[in-house]
Amino acid sequence: MTSRRTRERLVEALAQQGVADERVLEALRRVPRHLFVDEALASRAYENTPLPIGHGQTISQPWVVARMTELLLEPGIPERVLEVGTGSGYQAAVLASLVPHVYTVERVGALVSQARQRLREARLYNAHIRHGDGYQGWPEYAPFGGILLTAAPAQVPAALLEQLADGGRLVAPVGGSGYQALTVADRGAEGLRYRRVAGVSFVPMLEGRG
Ligand code: SAH
Repeated sequence: MTSRRTRERLVEALAQQGVADERVLEALRRVPRHLFVDEALASRAYENTPLPIGHGQTISQPWVVARMTELLLEPGIPERVLEVGTGSGYQAAVLASLVPHVYTVERVGALVSQARQRLREARLYNAHIRHGDGYQGWPEYAPFGGILLTAAPAQVPAALLEQLADGGRLVAPVGGSGYQALTVADRGAEGLRYRRVAGVSFVPMLEGRG
């Protein structure tokens, strides 16, 4: 169930659904998603579907992970990326296989320790997790060439925009609970430019540390 063929089928499905960046497809081929879900669900890890990870949270659907990663890296591979909403650690793992340094913030303590362990098991040592409130970002390592939100705020938090480098890109689901617009913000010479690319459904970004 976690075999090479099963993973290959997933990657083929993603390519058919419009994921074109070979680097991203290769990352999804390589990163063992079954390590980031409970053992009882491991046999379903390479289905193109979200899965529960406890604490009322879910690991995003592979298509969403692939598409958001592709959008984030479109302008080029940044040196440092910030993720908000570590969850299982899977999206961070995909990023860590593509960029030099990943910083990811999670508000639920139990998910932080679990994700740390899983990233170690996957031998990805360049992803750093902080237990904190993603609305604050991670100022010590700013600016970031890429910022990715995997929980949905009503509006893009100001502190995160401040931590976005010149030429950097932020990708986030923005909107109310249930349904959001996947939004891309680019910081160029003339300031920030926003673009909406798809409809998505993420859990809301909550205030404060859990
Ligand atoms: N990227 C994850 C899926 C994220 S689910 C993965 O690959 O598995 C959304 C996560 O965002 C949840 O774990 C939730 O606890 C977290 N979250 C919600 N609000 C947050 C906030 N303000 N700061 C940090 N994390 C937050």
